[in-house]
Amino acid sequence: MPKTEGRLVVVSNRVPPVPEVASSESGLAFTVSGLVSALKPALEDQGGLWFGWSGKTADRKANAEPTVSTLGRVQMATLDLSADEVSLYYTGFSNRALWPILHSFPSRAVIRQDAYRAYRRVNRRFAEALYPLLKGEDLVWVQDYHLFHLGQELRELGWKGRLGFFLHVPFPPADIFAILPWAKPILESLMQYDLVGVHTDRYLHNLADGLEMELGGKMTDNEFSHIGSRVRLGVYPIGIVPSAFTEAASRPGRSRQSQVLRRTPPDHRMILGVERLDYTKGIPQRLMAFERMLEQHPSFRGKVSYVQISVPSRTRVPEYIEEKNHVDRLVGQINGRFSEDGWSPIVYLYRSFNQQALAQLYRQTDVCLVTPLRDGMNLVAKEFVASQGPDPGALVLSKFSGAADSMRDAIIVNPFDIDGTAHAMFRAMTMSAQERRRHWSALMAVVERDTAKAWRESFQVDLALA
Ligand code: UDP
Repeated sequence: MPKTEGRLVVVSNRVPPVPEVASSESGLAFTVSGLVSALKPALEDQGGLWFGWSGKTADRKANAEPTVSTLGRVQMATLDLSADEVSLYYTGFSNRALWPILHSFPSRAVIRQDAYRAYRRVNRRFAEALYPLLKGEDLVWVQDYHLFHLGQELRELGWKGRLGFFLHVPFPPADIFAILPWAKPILESLMQYDLVGVHTDRYLHNLADGLEMELGGKMTDNEFSHIGSRVRLGVYPIGIVPSAFTEAASRPGRSRQSQVLRRTPPDHRMILGVERLDYTKGIPQRLMAFERMLEQHPSFRGKVSYVQISVPSRTRVPEYIEEKNHVDRLVGQINGRFSEDGWSPIVYLYRSFNQQALAQLYRQTDVCLVTPLRDGMNLVAKEFVASQGPDPGALVLSKFSGAADSMRDAIIVNPFDIDGTAHAMFRAMTMSAQERRRHWSALMAVVERDTAKAWRESFQVDLALA
């Protein structure tokens, strides 16, 4: 890959916790986000800066300057936000307006002018704190929907260097994005970047369509132009470090966390679901499909355990509280209906596990259910595949995940279709070992091609040339 002169400057809403960045271990003793696995080697290699919110709230006046610390060749610069900024910029606009719109859940969106104004202010504040830290040759790479306007703000302050943006969530059809009263200024701000990346062709198509509809410019090849400005658009599917999961899953002995999980007798089939408790993940629909499968195939009663790990997420946001109550009710109903002596069909765990434990758990799983109603990519699907051994489990994957774009050899389902998903679960549990191995080989080839490293390198190369 061509060497760029400058440092890599990553900007994201939150900077990763120091142990994730500082650790030289390749193991998975604690969770390492896809973004850190992808960016850390480049930051260390080229030297770099990671800028974002500290995750702390503080009195704004006391903390207008970023706090800068250095870990080897990497600088970490963080800003504190005020309680108001967290409530409006982060919870109000990013989580309650942008998140549902970008995931095509317009009925869940809460549209408030004050939240958007705070979003603009925080994007401006990030830019003002970051700009003095930049050097001419730096390559600035902004991550995700919390910071759409950051590029524009940096340009207004005078930044002329390379500027890229990556959207980690889907870009919805233009008509849905247009529900946001600020669709136009947000899309105009994207025109200030040299390169904007998304995970799939579908999101790129939607984004180009949105730009055309709101701004009136046009797309030629992979470049969108509008009154004298132009932005390059590209598709970069994010991935994982497959070897980290393969190794962690093969490690002898079980981690303490994964032991907790294997409560089911060895002759039982094990079905697994793993995600944050988020309404985009389709947990209630999946539970209903599992219930349908037990209704239609009574021979599986007493013979299958469905382990659902739901990681607490955005726990004070009303839509998430509602979703949790719904899931709790369904788990209670289904277990109440089918449990027999010594067997409950669903083992429900409302907490998080480290990736070492997850890798071992993926390895023990017969069927992994990744059935979001909408998901930018979904790394669990890739982690599951990378963790399999000689007798691989089967993957049931939603057609509405970015992962389904490339992982076509999974059992693809429409998660809104409860009967169809129930049938897919049955099919996954009854596939022959030969068929499972064939599916797995094709999936593993994709996981090994679209890695975290490939994602970062291809974006960086295109940004350097854009
Ligand atoms: N994860 C974890 N512990 C858990 C559940 C999930 O470390 O108990 C990790 C998982 O390994 C994956 C990430 O959280 O890397 C979830 O990423 P994904 O893209 O599937 O979904 P997101 O949460 O980003 O919407």
